This record gives sequence, structure tokens and C-alpha cells, in this order.
Amino acid sequence: MADTMFDRRLERIASSWKAKSDKGEMPNALYDAIAEGSEGAYDKKVIRNLARVSRIVDDIGEIRKFSDFKADWRYSHSTFGLTDTCTICGQSPIVENCILKDDARGEEIVIGNKCVHRYMDIVDPQTGQALNEQEKIEFLRNEKKGAKDEYTRQQWMNEHPHIFAQLSEFEEFMQSDPELKRLHYSISKRMVSHGCPGPKSRRQWSMFIATAEASRTKWEQGEVDRKRMMRVRAERAEQKKRAFIATLKHNRLAWHEASEEWLEVTKDVQTNKWERETRLKVARRLKNGQNLSEALERFKKEMLIRTRLDDGDVICDDEDFMLLRRMLDNNRLNGWEQAFARSIMGRIAADSKVTPSQQEMVDRLRARDRNE
Ligand SMILES: [Zn+2]
Repeated sequence: MADTMFDRRLERIASSWKAKSDKGEMPNALYDAIAEGSEGAYDKKVIRNLARVSRIVDDIGEIRKFSDFKADWRYSHSTFGLTDTCTICGQSPIVENCILKDDARGEEIVIGNKCVHRYMDIVDPQTGQALNEQEKIEFLRNEKKGAKDEYTRQQWMNEHPHIFAQLSEFEEFMQSDPELKRLHYSISKRMVSHGCPGPKSRRQWSMFIATAEASRTKWEQGEVDRKRMMRVRAERAEQKKRAFIATLKHNRLAWHEASEEWLEVTKDVQTNKWERETRLKVARRLKNGQNLSEALERFKKEMLIRTRLDDGDVICDDEDFMLLRRMLDNNRLNGWEQAFARSIMGRIAADSKVTPSQQEMVDRLRARDRNE
């Protein structure tokens, strides 16, 4: 290459020019000259500014054209929230920060998306094909969305370094309220799926965490009160239960005594099989504190009357009663008839019904009384 001393000298000079241009230290007039010939003032400014950060001198010391050094720059990616100034048009702030990269030097510049659309070609990272205008718009929109999400995630992370500790710390408290429980769950879920909560949850969390300590203290106090109330209620219930058992014991004793008394008083009454069983049935019911049915109540009354028949203090002006009384007193009835007479007298004195067959038996005794 460098055959002669002259060539080597030219090489050294070109190299020093390049170094100067790479640092953007060329005279202003040179940058103006590069921009010369382009349409409006706006384009001139852009070309001048891009030239200042580009490699405008080539290996042999020639000044490169805009269309040439522009191609050194490749769209790399978008970031969000830097609110930087566009390097080539000077607009500030720019919402969407497009990072251009000169791979040969590893240099990066930030420009706005407007300038990307206007001056830069974008190559599809997948296919390597240059995108048309419409594809560029969509591509940048997606890049911007990705960058914005990532920015939001980082902001959230930066503002809430203790989010997981807080979610743990307030977990029990938050579970106690349906709304807070939902918030707790939705943040946990979004931390997994998106790396940060959605906008609504972010707002709710800010409001919650501002007063979380105080709210929890209040809740804990409420819990203490609630537990105390429950204890008091349980104690009261226990007291009631004890009182009930005591009453029950007392009643059982009374019932037992009533039953025993019933059996004692009626033990000498002559009874048939049904009456024997019914007497025991009454005793059982008395012992258990159960009410007697109307029929049993009547039976009891009849039985008690029958215990007093021999004392002569059962007064009854019923004809049948008086007939049986007289026949009993005069010893005109055999053993079985005596038992029958006492049973019927008890029924009559207690105003109970006498069955037709019983009435027939009474009538037969009356007939015999007349004939004797
Ligand atoms: Zn710009």
C-alpha cells in the first residue's frame, strides 16, 4: 500500500484528520459545507448535527457524504423515560428515545422517533430486510411499548424495593378485608406475569401502604377485642350450660320422687294386665319429666280415686257407682267382680267413659242385685 514516503505521509495525515473528525472537532464551516445543498434549514441542521457525531473522514482523507456516513448508524433499540434531547434535531424532551449505534466504533446516540422516521432506515432484525414507512411505524410502536413496559417495571422496582417484604408483612392483615385481599392477590399475580402491578393496583398500593401500619394496628386491636368478646360469650354460654344442668339434676330428682310416690300410692290397687302396664308407663313418664297424655292423665286420676275407695271418702251420686259401692260393702261380689267394681267406680268418679261391654257387665250385676 504505502509504497513511498509521500504515501506514508498522506496516510498519517488522513489518520489524524479521521481522529479529529471522530471527536467532532472539525471546524464549524466544514459541517456547514457538508449540509450545503440540502433543502431546508431544518434538514441542514440535522445533517450538520449528525456529521458532528459521525465518521466524516474516510481512510484516504476524503470527506464523506451525508448519505454515506448516515449508513454507519443502525437503529438498535428504544428506551423510555430518559426525556433526553434528540442529538440531531435538538428537540427536547423526547418521549421515545431511539438508540442508534455505530458498530464500527461502538458509539451510541439518542434521537427521537420523528427523526428516525425521517432520516434513518431500519432493518428488520429477523429478516434483514429494510422496512418500508408503514412497517417502520409499527416496528417503532412495538419497540416503544416494550421500552415503556420495561421503564414502568424498573420505576416500580426502584420505588418499591421492599414490595415482597411488605406483601409478606401485611399478608395476614390484608387477608382480613375482601378489597385488600384482592389487591394483595392481583399485585402478587402481576409481579409474576408482568414484573409490576397494573396502573390501578399501583395507585391502590400507594394509598394502602401510606396508612398500612396504622390500619393494621387498628385491626390488631379489633382482633384482640373480638377474641375477648368471644371468650366472654363462651364463658357466658358455659355458665348457662352449667345452670341448665343443675336445673336438670334438680328436676330429675323431683321427677324421680313423683314417679316413686305414684308407684307407692298405687301399689295395693288391684289391676288387670292393661292397667298394670299403664301404671308402669305413667311411672316411666313421670320419672322422665314427660307430660302425660289426656288418656294417661285420666287413668292416673282413676287410679288415685281407687286407692281411696275403701276409705269411704269418695263421694259420687252416680247410680252405677252407688250400686257397686253397696254390693262391695255387702260382700256380694267375688274376687274378680270386686276388682271390676273398683275399676268401674274409679272410672265413674273420674268422669271417664265406661265401655259398652263394661256397661253390660254393670247391668248384669244390677239384675242380680234385684233378684237376690
Ligand atoms: Zn430529532
